[in-house]
Amino acid sequence: KKRDPDQPEFYQAVEEVCTTLIPLLEKEPKYIPILERIVEPERVVMFRVAWVDDKGKEHVNRGYRVQFNSAIGPYKGGLRFRDNVNLSIIKFLGFEQIFKNALTTLPMGGGKGGSDFEPKGKSDLEVMRFCQSFMSELFRHIGPNTDVPAGDIGVGGREIGFLFGMYKKIVNRFEGVLTGKGANWGGSLIRPEATGYGAVYFMEKMLAANDMDMKGKKVLVSGAGNVAQYCVEKLLHVGAIPLTVSDTSGCVYEPEGFTHEKLAYVFKIKNEERKPISEYTKYSKEAQFFPKENPWRRFKADIAMPCATQNEVDTEDAKALVANGVKAIGEGANMPSTPGAIAVYFENNVLYGPAKAVNAGGVAVSGLEMSQNSLRLSWTREEVDAKLKKIMGDIFDSCFNAAKTYAKNPKDYMTGANIAGFLKVAEAMLQQGVL
Ligand code: NDP
Repeated sequence: KKRDPDQPEFYQAVEEVCTTLIPLLEKEPKYIPILERIVEPERVVMFRVAWVDDKGKEHVNRGYRVQFNSAIGPYKGGLRFRDNVNLSIIKFLGFEQIFKNALTTLPMGGGKGGSDFEPKGKSDLEVMRFCQSFMSELFRHIGPNTDVPAGDIGVGGREIGFLFGMYKKIVNRFEGVLTGKGANWGGSLIRPEATGYGAVYFMEKMLAANDMDMKGKKVLVSGAGNVAQYCVEKLLHVGAIPLTVSDTSGCVYEPEGFTHEKLAYVFKIKNEERKPISEYTKYSKEAQFFPKENPWRRFKADIAMPCATQNEVDTEDAKALVANGVKAIGEGANMPSTPGAIAVYFENNVLYGPAKAVNAGGVAVSGLEMSQNSLRLSWTREEVDAKLKKIMGDIFDSCFNAAKTYAKNPKDYMTGANIAGFLKVAEAMLQQGVL
């Protein structure tokens, strides 16, 4: 903490992982020296991103790429464009990514990047100019065998397109340097759906292991972006009843649950019109809108799936969820629950699926996109979806088995996820020497 006094999100992520590793380190002290190395990124790149808006005014943002750990493969992790991005947030995300990527069983190291640029409210041309400027520096730090970025908050198909176009122009090579590409220029089918679908696949497995299922279960979802949209879609496929979505404007509640038709309005508002979700009540007369609220305190439900951002469920939210009947949490977003909220889940025997396991489907299909790029072929939707489902099942099994072996509480899948992910990376670091 002396080295980096202003990084609360990073410390929160490190503290959670290190605390849960204690039972492993007591049994296997050889891993203790790895801890000091694994919390230090291999490389941090920060750079100026200057661009010109539609009125001709110059702006300067800061770009980041944290190349955290390459013990098991090239750095891999998304880019986040949002006004609150800083080094602490990128480091927390990069640190989590190390273990998440290890859990997928695919050969990917951990990294993360982004900028404090806010795409909301910007024109397509402004976003394009920003992305081109961002890539005019980032290109020298990445490559298909070095570091392969992807999307995250504020970085979707549009931004990946602009970034890829600029990379290709500079290096004069068409190669798999980014994932989340368009399906007709090297992208994988199911990549847009992967994080949301994967989160529901994980939830199904976690419930099944505890003699429950998804059918007819009422689910609170937060967020209205990529992860939330496809989480709601998959919930509908499996017969659950998604009740809410939300964004920075507030929370939409559908008393009878979303249908596919109603979900299409969310896609239209957020992806085509790029407007706040408050617009939704124009389309659905049954819906209620609660300005500036999240979905956690008002509604009776069985399951909660936070899919918006970090620390969006605090202690009081978690208590309200328990009081309203929630029995399981699946984290689509990264680190959405505060440490206080997580404590409430465990005190009340709420099944808790932690982010690095539950939302690993996105990076898993990014890994599959890299494989398809290397092989120069494309798998069908069904093939990719089947692989995603299998990977999510395997991730749950790793969490389950590590929890059973090491944790005091065999249902502590958070400890399970951290230990299973850590073991794979730590073993590789030991074998590769002190570097
Ligand atoms: P998007 O930008 O597509 O969507 C983010 C959504 O969350 C938007 O609806 C946004 O609202 C809302 N949101 C963000 N911050 C807040 C806040 N402080 N309060 C209320 N709502 C908020 O991002 P993604 O869906 O891709 O990412 C969501 C989460 O999932 C992030 O934590 C990300 O790291 C994680 N994740 C994403 C993966 C992916 O494949 N995309 C993979 C693994 C994890 P608004 O539109 O108003 O800004």
